[in-house]
Amino acid sequence: VQVGAFIGVASAEPAECELADLLRRADIAMDHARGSRSARPAWFDAGMERALVAHGELEQGVRFALDHDQFVPFFEPQVDLATGEIKGFEVLARWIHPSSGVIAPDRFIPIAEELGLIGRLSDQVIRKALLAAADWDQAISLSVNISPSQLADSWLAQKIVRLLTETGFPAERLVVEVTESSLFADLELARAIVTSLKAQGIRLALDDFGSGFSSLSRLRALPFDLIKIDRSFTAAIQRDRQSAAIISAVTTLARALDVPVTVEGIENAATLDAVLAMGCRTGQGWYFGKPMG
Ligand code: C2E
Ligand code: MG
Ligand code: MG
Repeated sequence: VQVGAFIGVASAEPAECELADLLRRADIAMDHARGSRSARPAWFDAGMERALVAHGELEQGVRFALDHDQFVPFFEPQVDLATGEIKGFEVLARWIHPSSGVIAPDRFIPIAEELGLIGRLSDQVIRKALLAAADWDQAISLSVNISPSQLADSWLAQKIVRLLTETGFPAERLVVEVTESSLFADLELARAIVTSLKAQGIRLALDDFGSGFSSLSRLRALPFDLIKIDRSFTAAIQRDRQSAAIISAVTTLARALDVPVTVEGIENAATLDAVLAMGCRTGQGWYFGKPMG
């Protein structure tokens, strides 16, 4: 048995608040200590309470948005770098909030994961995307993002296949993007899910390659059809020789393994020229078009 402790501290003048209030503040501070995995006691401050309230409101908001169908797909073009021809689109979730407008996924995906609602959110977004794209040019593929926590759902493959059946979208036109971090939790389950997806003809992409705890052994863990080089390297290509060297090396390696590469985050013509010179064939980024609804 391993025992750990997190400590939250709150103090107040006797007249300032009731004992129950003081204990609640200490509790909030303790949660803060736990969240930051700090070995030191956390002292309550009013900002912690405001953050908690904001978080609670966001949680309510995500539940409401799911029930009211407010999550929609945006589409970002993926192009043949040499010809500029559009090969497919990446589906990126957006929350169309009635008063705040368009909200980006890093605000709501972590909350949906925390609440165990990411599966429903994903279903809502992917279903709309498949319906929208069903009658586009049949050569156009769609890439959808799957959260690490979804790869822990043993029904994931069945759920995706059901979406394809219900929307009439061909499996061959679908690419599922997973990040390396999803492979840490339960590689055997991930492998089982991926095997069923691939048996249907769905392709598998390794997203954000090079970010986080990458290792080349990850490439052998699952039968990836495609590697996406993280946009942090692309962004740095102009000013940093190491990033350029990494892109070039990954491209060469991938070619040797016979796995195509997509470069993310191409923002200007100079970057496009640079990655073209390295032999990259496919890419995406704001230079070709921002995600659109
Ligand atoms: P990602 O899959 O790596 O998606 C690429 C992100 O890079 C998108 O941000 C896109 O808008 C942004 N991006 C594309 N081109 C450029 C560029 O040239 N410059 C810059 N600075 N950024 C560029 P977004 O849409 O905010 O998505 C962020 C992340 O949220 C995605 O990263 C993906 O991991 C996750 N995500 C998005 N939609 C979904 C979804 O439906 N389900 C799940 N599970 N995750 C999603
Ligand atoms: Mg992606
Ligand atoms: Mg990515």
